[in-house]
Order: sequence, then C-alpha cells, then structure tokens
Amino acid sequence: MDKASPMDAGPGNFVAEIVQEDEERDRFGGRFITRFPPEPNGYLHIGHAKSICLNFGLASRFGGHCNLRFDDTNPEAESIEYVEAIRRDLQWLGFDPGRRVFFASSYFEQLYQWAERLVTKGLAYVDDQSEDEVRAARGNFYEQGKNSPCRDRTPEENLSLLRRMRAGEFDDGARVLRAKIDMQSKDLKLRDPLMYRIKHTTHHRTGDAWCIYPMYDWAHGQADALEEVTHSICTLEFVNHRSLYDWFLEALEVPQPPRQIEFARLALTYVVTSKRKLLQLVQDGHVEGWDDPRMPTLAGMRRLGIPPAAIRAFCDRIGVSKHNALVDVALFEHAVRESLNASASRRMGVLKPLKLTIENWPEDHVEYFALPNHPEDPDAGVRHVPFGKHLWVEQDDFQKEPPKKWFRLAEGREVRLRGACLVTCNEVIEDESGCPIELVCTWDPDSRGGDASDGRRVRGTLHWVSASHALDATVRLYDRLFRVEDPTAAEHFVEHLNPESCVVIRGCKLEPALLEATAGEPIQFERLGYFTPDPESKAAGLLFNRTISLKDSWARSQKKS
Ligand code: ATP
Ligand code: MG
Repeated sequence: MDKASPMDAGPGNFVAEIVQEDEERDRFGGRFITRFPPEPNGYLHIGHAKSICLNFGLASRFGGHCNLRFDDTNPEAESIEYVEAIRRDLQWLGFDPGRRVFFASSYFEQLYQWAERLVTKGLAYVDDQSEDEVRAARGNFYEQGKNSPCRDRTPEENLSLLRRMRAGEFDDGARVLRAKIDMQSKDLKLRDPLMYRIKHTTHHRTGDAWCIYPMYDWAHGQADALEEVTHSICTLEFVNHRSLYDWFLEALEVPQPPRQIEFARLALTYVVTSKRKLLQLVQDGHVEGWDDPRMPTLAGMRRLGIPPAAIRAFCDRIGVSKHNALVDVALFEHAVRESLNASASRRMGVLKPLKLTIENWPEDHVEYFALPNHPEDPDAGVRHVPFGKHLWVEQDDFQKEPPKKWFRLAEGREVRLRGACLVTCNEVIEDESGCPIELVCTWDPDSRGGDASDGRRVRGTLHWVSASHALDATVRLYDRLFRVEDPTAAEHFVEHLNPESCVVIRGCKLEPALLEATAGEPIQFERLGYFTPDPESKAAGLLFNRTISLKDSWARSQKKS
C-alpha cells in the first residue's frame, strides 16, 4: 500500500461524479437510493464511518435516500446485540435512516422464490458435492474448471431437490445450489457460484424457519434491487464480484438494475479495522469490550470523547478514491483536536497534585475568580472558581534544580496562577526522602486577576485547584492501542499492542464545576489535553477519560514542510 497524504491532491470524490453523470443522463428516472449494508457481526468502526458518510452524504446531496440494511445472512456470527449497537452508533454519528431500516433476512422468501425461478429456467442446479469438492473443481486462473456430475440435472429434478433442501431433509453441507453459468469462464466468480448452502442454525430474526441460507453474492444485489437501490457502493475487494452481481440481476430480468461502484476502504496507521481482529481483541481480553475507549469503534470513540462532528469532518477531508492507501492517523487526530478546540469548555484539573500554601492569605478566606469558559468565545461566559490559602498545583510544574529557561515554579520564582494572581515560592518542604511535599508561597495582593500592577512581566502561567473545594477523581490517560504503523502486517498483531495505551491516575484534583460535566461532553483541562467523563463516572467516584493530548504532530509537520 502507498502511504498517501490525502491533503496533497485535495479530496476528490469520484463516486459523486458518477452519480452526477447518471443524474444528467437520467439513467434511473430521477431516483437516487444508496444503502449502507453492515453485517451485524461486530460493532461499527472508523472504516464504516467512511462508508456511512459517503452513502448518507450522497443521498442528502442528490436529494435521495440511504437505506440501512442489515446484511444478516450468516446466522452463526450475528446477533441482536450487534444490530442494536449499529443502530445506536449510526444515530450518534449523525445519520438517521428514519423508517428505511431493512434486513436481508426479510427477503429470504423472495430470494428463495427467485432461486426456484432460476432453477426452472435452467440457470441453477443442485450439486451433491461438498463445498470443498466444488472449490477444488473450480480450478484457478491458469486451470479451467470441471463440470460437476450434477450439472445436467433436469429442472424438475433440481426443483424437487431444492424443495427438499429447504424442507430440511438433508444435513449441513450435503448439497448446495449453484448458478449454472460457465465453468470455463476466465472470470472465476462466474464458474457456477454457490447460491445456497445448508445450515441447520437458528437465525436471530427468522428463528428456525430456514435451514438454507443465501450466499453474499446471491443476496446482495437482489436485496439492492428489492429496495430499488440505484447505486450500490462497496469497497474495492468486491470489484471481481461485479460481473456476478450483474449476471443475477439480468437473469432475473430486473428493470433498471442497480449499479455497483467500488471505492478504496479506509485504512489508518496504528489502527486495526478488521472486525475479525477487533473481535479477537475483545474475546481475548486485550481490551475491555467493543466500547473500550482505545477501540476504533464508534462506541469506543464516543466513550473516549471524540465528537461525531470530528469523524464526519475527517471523512470529508480524506475524500473517496479508487486506490487503497494508508491514511496517517495524525490526520484523524488533527480533526479531533480541531473540533475539540472549538467546542470544549476550559476547566482546571491537577493530575499529580503538589500542595501550595499561601502564607499571607487568611486561613478561611475564599475568593471567586471569574475565568472564561472559552478563550475565543465570549458568549460561552465565565465560571467562578474558588481560590483559598491551600491549593493544588501540578508536580511537574515544580523543579528543585530548574534548567535555564524554566518559567514555572522553583524556589524564589514568581509565577501566575491562571486568572487568579501572582505567587512567589519562598520555601520548599520535603519528606524524609527529599521529595517536595509542599510549596510555601506569598501572593502579591496587587495582582488580582493575574497581572502585576507595576507592569513587571511574569512568563509562567500555571493551572491550580483550591484544596478545600477540589473534587477527587480518577483519570485514565489513553494512548494509541498499537505501537507500530501497520499492526496488521504482522502475523500476530497483538504482539504490537502498546502496553501504555491506558495509564490510570488516581487522586487527581479537579475544580468544582466539573461535577456537572456529563459523559461525552468535551472539556479541555487547561495545559493538559481534552477529557470527558466516562459513562460510569459518579457511580463509583468521578472518572474522566483523556480523549487526546494537546500536542498536534500533524499540524506541526504541515508547518515545517
Ligand atoms: P470486515 O472486513 O472488517 O469484516 P466488512 O466489510 O465485512 O468489514 P460490513 O459490516 O460488511 O463489514 O461492512 C458494511 C459496509 O461498510 C460495507 O459496505 C463495507 O464496504 C463498508 N466498510 C467496511 N469497512 C470499511 C473500511 N475500512 N472503509 C470503508 N468502508 C468500509
Ligand atoms: Mg462484509
């Protein structure tokens, strides 16, 4: 795969161009319908988001509709839990299919009737070979396929066998239904592909009504046709299915058949998006579930605090192309920061607290300083933050032996406490091991609000929290789940998990306004990053997740180049 920077050429969308042309030629008589067809065998992830934004985005741009269709033809791996999660996550991402929610399983009867029609027309037959035998006889690119001994059965015999398959007379794998196309075709997909196989498995929607289940190729295009889809947009690995897609629709004489268009799937550096691999992470306990904040799933990203608008903006920005490329995850993170910077309320929180006492401040005296909720948005208003004699500041903002350009706390240094006043550190109290445990300071009463009245310049500005008002909280610092750019290149991708992808810090001190924060609400802890309360926060104490740090490597690399 090429490593591409999608910003180079600017985002294009060749699918939109095709749709535009079809509209101009009136190919579908004014209809425009797309669909998003997830299989309910896992949660939606960032790759699905690209497909959702494309399909729903085109529908709204061209005044059409997008159907949500559950592609539920494989009962073993599918479940209602996944169906519900997909509906919830799609809604959260900002797309509402309304009443256009469909299930491939609702078409089982129609598909079966169509299969009988193909049998009657001599275009499908029941094969007694096993799936392995069928595969072996199919040949390959260099080797022609061999006709099955069952290929010349009469339509009557095939019809009777198909009905007995449906009635449950045969065991799993005993027989299959195949389309009768051409075992010598250069196109391997057209060498008598499977349409049905026998599986005595309960389906989450149809129960035990069926013991034969349609193959993807037999279900997909027909479902598109039933829903009057005009443009069936899928990822590149389906290019070689297109001939078969068209063959079935032609054999069934569907008027104005839908057209399949393929685009490149989204792959991100440091991220795994195969549902099989994500399921493995969940099942083997490498993460806490599909909604673990480190997962690239929509549920995980929601819990991490990523705004849905950031995901939509990212999908717009990368465009839609015909060539697979690996997108730099820093571009995604940039979109997240851009969105959070605009929307997040500013608050103060101290992750690793160090005590700071102001000697010349009366013991029980409390003052409230008005701090802006957003530096660039006066409409966001202010909150009144309590300030007293005993404060918490960040351990990292103090150094016993500071390097040259140190503008934070050290013995004898003056700093600004954000929005409050200037303080000078006079004495450092240490424990037996020499660790600083308290900074004794004095404040300048002429610096209320943060600046000196004599105009002297103080460069360092630190965040702080009043000790007697502080909320105790646990904070989880999340980082990328994998340490390498392309984790899927390795055979055992779990070897590349980042052992520091979740660092839990207890005993953090937060300003009181954070008690009201709700799960998913974007908040910037000043100087530290973007955070949001976990949905489980409050039940067992306050719990915040770090969405992302402040540092933006993508923006910086763009400035340099
Ligand atoms: P996986 O290969 O992980 O199992 P899938 O493609 O089988 O994924 P589906 O549930 O069938 O998963 O996907 C639903 C739709 O989302 C399909 O139309 C598929 O093309 C699209 N899709 C899935 N992954 C991506 C991706 N990484 N980028 C863009 N579209 C994707
Ligand atoms: Mg699929």
